[in-house]
Amino acid sequence: MPIESPAVVTVIGRRGPAEVDRALEILRRNGVEHRWVDLDRDPLAPLLDARELEDMRLPLIVFSDGTRLEALEDYTEPLPGADDSLMGRYVESSRWRAALAERAGLPTRPRHDVYDVVIVGAGPAGLTAAVYAESEGLETLVVERNAPGGQAATSSRIENYPGFAEGVSGSDLAETTYDQAMRLGTEFLIGAEINRAEPRGDGVDVELVNGERFRARTGVLATGVDYRRLDAPGVEDLVGLGLHYGSATGAASAYQGRDVVIVGGANSAAQAALDLADHAREVTMLVRAESLYKGTSAYLCERIDAHDGITVLTRTTLARAEGDGWLERVVASGPDGERVIAASACYVMIGGEPLTAGVPDLLRTDERGYFLTGPDIVALPDRGGWPLERDPLFLESSVPGLFVAGDVRHGSIKRVASAVGEGAMAVSLVHTYLDDLEGGK
Ligand SMILES: Cc1cc2nc3c(=O)[nH]c(=O)nc-3n(C[C@H](O)[C@H](O)[C@H](O)COP(=O)(O)OP(=O)(O)OC[C@H]3O[C@@H](n4cnc5c(N)ncnc54)[C@H](O)[C@@H]3O)c2cc1C
Repeated sequence: MPIESPAVVTVIGRRGPAEVDRALEILRRNGVEHRWVDLDRDPLAPLLDARELEDMRLPLIVFSDGTRLEALEDYTEPLPGADDSLMGRYVESSRWRAALAERAGLPTRPRHDVYDVVIVGAGPAGLTAAVYAESEGLETLVVERNAPGGQAATSSRIENYPGFAEGVSGSDLAETTYDQAMRLGTEFLIGAEINRAEPRGDGVDVELVNGERFRARTGVLATGVDYRRLDAPGVEDLVGLGLHYGSATGAASAYQGRDVVIVGGANSAAQAALDLADHAREVTMLVRAESLYKGTSAYLCERIDAHDGITVLTRTTLARAEGDGWLERVVASGPDGERVIAASACYVMIGGEPLTAGVPDLLRTDERGYFLTGPDIVALPDRGGWPLERDPLFLESSVPGLFVAGDVRHGSIKRVASAVGEGAMAVSLVHTYLDDLEGGK
């Protein structure tokens, strides 16, 4: 990504720990010039002082001014929504990320004390919200913990985004939208996360993990989802080309008379199998557990058992994905060895978490942690604790003036175009909210 960063950074370590990938991802995706020294492979490695390195927590990151950043002790990135003991480590890892970004020369400190809108997350929803907010005269700050682009930037080719008949690479799409937001004057913070947010009066006081503070009149939370990835040959190359992470919402009719594979054995995978089976010739579920009943509600299992068009292969994983420019087949590995299964599409649904851990614990969520908005809040007992006489606006969270857009919203369609649409809609609702406030004064 084209953030101007003069720093040259060296990362020294061994493949494996999450921090190595995290550091390299932040540097690469934010366009920071860097060098990776793999101690097991780099020809320079034998020249380094092995005894000095032994005393350090790897990866060691060395910056152009000679300063160093070591890994966190006992680093494991806890899952979003983890319990309190893990939250401490989550904050630690956020601070480590903030320190890395700052020393690598990325923007980490807000320029103003007050913003009209703070956007948390710079995936398609957050970037679009930034473009609309800034172009409509709102003082806008975007807080992003990794790099602009979100999940979409990791997709090699997005085939279903309107306006790109030949498809578009996710990173190109992210970069163009990011450039557009920057050209309009949006301020971005990278490696940044919110530590505390307190609604006060008509706005919210925010503190970042690096200690910086500012006030925002409104917020758009667009922190997305983290899907567990499949590490099998061929998968990475075919993502977006027949192989998809997440649910098949709205896609079932596209597979009329074709074969579809679903990897995963939880309720969401089972529901997708049933939807797809209404249209597809055959749906095959690859389930790692010894029975679908282990991870799926009994009523769904019974419907699947009764369906002629669904085959469930248990104790089976996806070994390879194959196809020439588009997914054609998968190779499944089970108790009887490998089996080739024709597939026009493969949906990987092996778990994912809404990324709400870094967002203050203020907002009402569903049982899976997705933020509730608008009608879903007032449908709760006691109207979900909604404090105003008026109903929440469509994308408004349980805190007036804080809006939610994209994958992290309960009920969202997990697609780039819908995230983009919600980002734009959220800004329109921000205006409605601010007009209302000003009208009331
Ligand atoms: C590999 C892959 C391929 C895909 N291919 C397609 C496709 O072909 N077509 C399609 O329509 N959809 C596709 N999708 C789905 C699509 O990318 C998502 O639906 C879309 O990116 C959601 O956008 P979003 O802005 O809501 O969230 P995200 O893209 O998830 O962006 C959220 C952003 O918020 C940041 N963030 C998270 N927590 C915090 C925090 N606490 N503080 C600050 N920042 C935070 C993250 O770093 C991230 O940048 C694909 C997804 C994946 C993973």
